[in-house]
Amino acid sequence: MSSLLIVEDDELLRDGLSAQLSQVGHAVTAAADGEAAQRLLEANRYDGVVLDLGLPKISGMDVLRWIRRRLPALPVLILTARDGVDDRVHGLNAGADDYLTKPFDMAELQARLGAMLRRARLPAFGGSLEVPSNTTRRLRVDATLPQAWLGDEALELTQREWALLSLLVTHAGRVVSREDVLETWQIGDPGDSAGSGAAGVASNALEVYIHRLRRKLADSGLNIRNVRGLGYMLETTQP
Ligand code: CA
Repeated sequence: MSSLLIVEDDELLRDGLSAQLSQVGHAVTAAADGEAAQRLLEANRYDGVVLDLGLPKISGMDVLRWIRRRLPALPVLILTARDGVDDRVHGLNAGADDYLTKPFDMAELQARLGAMLRRARLPAFGGSLEVPSNTTRRLRVDATLPQAWLGDEALELTQREWALLSLLVTHAGRVVSREDVLETWQIGDPGDSAGSGAAGVASNALEVYIHRLRRKLADSGLNIRNVRGLGYMLETTQP
């Protein structure tokens, strides 16, 4: 079961989509405009989004760009008008994972949605994943090798850098706490003693690794943001 957000202003289509996707076992939330969609995305975690492009208040394209900045790894399938070739192209360029042209067949929607969710699913971070961004030098990681690439270029990473990057990628768009990183590195929790002793050293080391990783991710369209007091978050840079 996946948790899905359906964003569609056409009430009939919205209800139809919600009913059909609930029936096959998904947990479905529906929004009727772009503003409501952004509010829901800020407050909840979803596995995938079905996004109509023609929406009131905030357009689907703007919602898509917003999602790509905030939640780089969230799979998005866009719905476009039959003759909206430009919409499709723009939508895919803006980071949509797939699209369907209206009117569409419900079985096709389910098949495409299923494929999209399977591609995005990362049980214990297995398999290969590409992080969407507004550049051709996209970050791709394969946990089984393990190896990461920017575009066609393999990234040279130390074991710790790899562990840090894996953690950030699997939580893309969400905050990874310093404690989570140190735990992955199997270094003690810095707790309240950050800045002194072994914990302080670990904390400082983390800063160094974040800095190195940022440099290695230059031109990837991705940034590691320092979320004050909370940790770090992998996000796409502004286009
Ligand atoms: Ca519409």
